[in-house]
Amino acid sequence: MMDETRRRFLALAAVAPVAAVAMGRLAPARADTCADPATLPAAQKSLRASLDFEAVSKEPGKRCGLCAFFKGTGDCGSCQILTSQVSANSICSSFAAKAG
Ligand code: SF4
Repeated sequence: MMDETRRRFLALAAVAPVAAVAMGRLAPARADTCADPATLPAAQKSLRASLDFEAVSKEPGKRCGLCAFFKGTGDCGSCQILTSQVSANSICSSFAAKAG
């Protein structure tokens, strides 16, 4: 017969993977790692809001890294419209595809 400690351990071990997946689905979209939204100046927050800026684009073909206003080659770059750092995976309503 299993003792109570072992029984609880096995029950938690069985539930842990399911809980981890559920938490991942409930977590907000990955935050912008290039500019901490909490420390942005009010004017920058307002500009981002007016342009419907999102930290992570939901459209694979439309993201800052593919935008003509994005300057940079890595995960972080500079947006000429926002005049601030943005993630290559972010997006806003001013997106304009880079010329081929
Ligand atoms: S204009 Fe918008 S989509 Fe283009 S780089 Fe700036 S924030 Fe990203």
